[in-house]
Amino acid sequence: MTETQIAANIRRVQERMAEAASRAGRNPETITLVAVTKTVEPARIAEAYAAGIRDFGENYMQEALRKIGTPPLDGPDVRWHFIGHLQRNKVKEAVGRFALVESVDSVALAQEIGRRAEQAGRVVEILLEVNLASAATRYGFAPEAVAAAAAECALLAGVRMRGLMGMAPYAPDPEAARPYFRQLHALFLQLPPATQQILSMGMSGDFEVAIEEGATQIRIGSALFGPRSP
Ligand SMILES: *Cc1c(COP(=O)(O)O)cnc(C)c1O
Repeated sequence: MTETQIAANIRRVQERMAEAASRAGRNPETITLVAVTKTVEPARIAEAYAAGIRDFGENYMQEALRKIGTPPLDGPDVRWHFIGHLQRNKVKEAVGRFALVESVDSVALAQEIGRRAEQAGRVVEILLEVNLASAATRYGFAPEAVAAAAAECALLAGVRMRGLMGMAPYAPDPEAARPYFRQLHALFLQLPPATQQILSMGMSGDFEVAIEEGATQIRIGSALFGPRSP
C-alpha cells in the first residue's frame, strides 16, 4: 500500500521532533504528538489513526462530539484533548469524553470540571492555560497568577492537575516563539512537583523550538492535515 499524504506528513513531523529532541539532548519518546483535528473530517482523522496517532485535539465541543463518536476514533485506545475555550455549560459534555482538558483558564472552570467529574465518578486530567502573549489568545491565566491557581487546582477533587499549556503569538520566524516557551517552561518548573507532568507547547510553525525549550507535548494541525480553509 502506498503511504497516504497524511501518513507521510506524520512521519516527517516525527522525524523533525526526533531531530529537535536530539539537539536538546532529550529522548524523543518523552514527547507526545497531538494531532489537532479542527475542521478535519473523520475519514482523514482515521488516516492519522491508521498511521499510529492516538492523541487528538479539538477546539469546539459540537464538532468534537460528532468525531469522538465515529469509529475508529471512539475506541478506548484514543485520547481526546480539549484545547479550545471551554464554556462552563459545556463541561458536563466534556467529562468522560476527553482524557485531558488542556485549556483550563480559570479556577472556577476547574471547580466545575471537578464537580461534574465527581458526580460521574471520574477524574478528569487538566492543564492550566497560560496567556503568554495577549496577541496569541484572549484566554488563559496571566503568568503571575499561575502559581496560586495551580495550588488551588491541585487540591480539587475530580480533577488531576498535570501541567501547563500555552501558545506563542504567530510569527513567521519560529525563533520569535523561543522567549515565550522559555517563560512557560520556567513557570512549569515552579509548579508543585507532582503536577509537573505535561508541558503542552508548540504548533506547526514553532514545535521544534518548543521541544528545544522543554515541551513534553506538541499540538500539530496544518503540518499533518494541510492548511485549514477559513
Ligand atoms: C489550531 C490549534 C493548534 C494547531 O495549529 P497548527 O498551526 O495548525 O498546527 C494548536 N493548538 C491550539 C490551541 C489550536 O487552536
